Amino acid sequence: MSAPSTAAAGRLAPSPSGRLHIGHARTFLVAWWRARSRQAKLTLRIEDLDAGRCSQEHIDGVLEDLEWLGLDWDGSWRLQSTGLDQMRAQAMDLAARGLAYACTCTRKEIAAAQSAPHGEEGPRYPGTCRGLYKDLDSARRSSGREPALRVLVPEGELHFVDQLHGTRAVNVQETCGDFPLLTRGGEPSYQLAVVVDDARDGVDEVVRGGDLLDVTARQIVLQRLLGYSTPRYAHVPLIVDAQGTRLAKRSAGLTLAELRARGVRPSQLVGAVARISGLPEAQEGRPHDFCAAFDLERIPAGPWWYDTDASSFRRPPYSPPEAWADVPE
Ligand SMILES: [Zn+2]
Repeated sequence: MSAPSTAAAGRLAPSPSGRLHIGHARTFLVAWWRARSRQAKLTLRIEDLDAGRCSQEHIDGVLEDLEWLGLDWDGSWRLQSTGLDQMRAQAMDLAARGLAYACTCTRKEIAAAQSAPHGEEGPRYPGTCRGLYKDLDSARRSSGREPALRVLVPEGELHFVDQLHGTRAVNVQETCGDFPLLTRGGEPSYQLAVVVDDARDGVDEVVRGGDLLDVTARQIVLQRLLGYSTPRYAHVPLIVDAQGTRLAKRSAGLTLAELRARGVRPSQLVGAVARISGLPEAQEGRPHDFCAAFDLERIPAGPWWYDTDASSFRRPPYSPPEAWADVPE
């Protein structure tokens, strides 16, 4: 990867499946500071593929919250769902090259065939349908089922560097299995969508939440198979609740809308995030005020929680387990 150039590009990629909470604010501020401080283009892509969970109301809410924080982006924002054809085309290209195959297994069959630990995408796929069908059509005909398309994940170890977590070594087949590219309904998977979109937007550095550290290997596998270059990565440590649990989408009292309703000012929140992001002490400010001093390498590791009474972040009231460096699946 060459030094920052006119082609440098980052992205903000919120999912409109709920209101943004304080953890999103932290991640998006860091991504914004990083892109702006290296003069990279910054795109906003709204990841709306999960049609059952995403809504227009939440899209409006995401835009409102980002603007309230004082974040901007270059060009028009875009819905991820506008790029489905290109994603499907890339998946079919992999299939035509023998790098993806039809799978007619049900979730139940996969679960029954595999007793290995289950990741957040369910059980690791054991490869049952590898080499079984010539293509999607023949799989459909001979099984009477609508097939999914899975990528043929190579054997071997993959190494990548995360700028905040160091070098990661992943046995890809053991960790990822042959993960889906297209669902049985023909919808692009999250991994495929992200990889195609990042390439399409020329993203050379991905700054996102630490909960996505574990899916990075899958995305790098896809980038290599599709002939894309791999961006640099930085996974921002998560914000947790007072008990040390990762914030969910519906974190009561911690959405930006709720904080705003309680009278929290954006400058207050930006100042609080700056203080836990390696930036010089300052009480309040707009995102731009912190740009010149921002340094990705100075972001402290480990989780924080937000004390709404004090309107500031604190370390969790326990010593975090080692696993916090590796966000659990
Ligand atoms: Zn199968």
